[in-house]
Amino acid sequence: MALQWALALHGVITMLVVVSFLCGHWPIFRGTIIDRIHYFITFGAYNYFLRFLAIAFGSRVRNSFLRIEYYCCDRPNPILQLLYLSILGGTYFIIAKSSFRYIPGVYVDDLHKYISILAVGVGVILFLLTSFSDPGIVNARNVTQYISSYPYDNKIYAEKECPTCNIPKPARSKHCGICGRCVARFDHHCGWMNNCIGEKNTRYFMAFLFWHYLICLYGTIVLGLILVGQLKERKIIYILTVYYGIEKSFYSLFPHVIQWLLGAHNTQVLLIVFLAIVSLLLAIFLGYHAQLCLTNTTTNETFKWQEYMNWRRKLNEAKVSAAALKSSLHAVNGKGKKARESKCSRFWRRSPLQNEQVIMVENNVYDKGFIENVLEILVPLSERKSFFHGKTL
Ligand SMILES: [Zn+2]
Ligand SMILES: [Zn+2]
Repeated sequence: MALQWALALHGVITMLVVVSFLCGHWPIFRGTIIDRIHYFITFGAYNYFLRFLAIAFGSRVRNSFLRIEYYCCDRPNPILQLLYLSILGGTYFIIAKSSFRYIPGVYVDDLHKYISILAVGVGVILFLLTSFSDPGIVNARNVTQYISSYPYDNKIYAEKECPTCNIPKPARSKHCGICGRCVARFDHHCGWMNNCIGEKNTRYFMAFLFWHYLICLYGTIVLGLILVGQLKERKIIYILTVYYGIEKSFYSLFPHVIQWLLGAHNTQVLLIVFLAIVSLLLAIFLGYHAQLCLTNTTTNETFKWQEYMNWRRKLNEAKVSAAALKSSLHAVNGKGKKARESKCSRFWRRSPLQNEQVIMVENNVYDKGFIENVLEILVPLSERKSFFHGKTL
């Protein structure tokens, strides 16, 4: 009974922390415990930690910590690149050491030893291409061409100058504060690549995501086939049913088979779980970015549209308040009778939020249709002949 209470408490606390972290900043939770937990997770804990460092070790240690944090989070550095290479190399090493001895097996051909090396090699090449290729740096020499390639929509992009680079800011570009340069068709700064993802390297970034999703899926399937092959080779089902008298049905055998796999092949089981989780996360991330590419939008632009919609929402609210005030004044003066909106028309009227979504889709002047959008990723505008003659528009 105590265990059940502990589990229930654990569930409630987990839920409270997750809801507070994701939704604690919503106005509805203002002043509540959820708001306070949100503040503690996002800012408070960090501030308390800094205060603790200053009190326990002095301001010199605190300042050193801040310098390290600045280097890790706000300056270009290879920490995450090295972490990626060590995760990839480490995982491949563990797979080779623990599982290559079962190849060739009942269901796995000898060829997979070589295919796996090739797959990892291509992954590393795509990583290097994304990390060290030009993301589309805007400079004094190409700024005119970029300006003529991407029109200002005067909604999320207007004519401006970059105060750091002292050059005009083409539409869709952004000054990356970490790299200290303006990048055309800026998507985001990727810490894993230690590079911006922009006009020229989005194709490599997408290929990197897609390839790593495939590698993880491939690893999961091959390791799964090795385990199925081991079950067959060692006649585990036969032993379980004949010697242990377990009923030959999926539900009866399943827990015993899992128990055997965890005992005899725990490394492979852990690798399968790890690769399956990573491939699922990559699939979600890849799907999100594929949708952006197909609609010719960038991650940076989704934030900009959000800001634009918030501004429009506030403007609409102000207009509605002004209209309500005006009509109430008319009513008081008896000068006007407002035609009553029927319940039916009120029901079918679009919500302001729906209107804003439509505004976003309809106003994306960079969306040229599915095929053109994909071509723009594969062959960036700056690599086309028309770019140098100002005919890209
Ligand atoms: Zn700049
Ligand atoms: Zn950057």
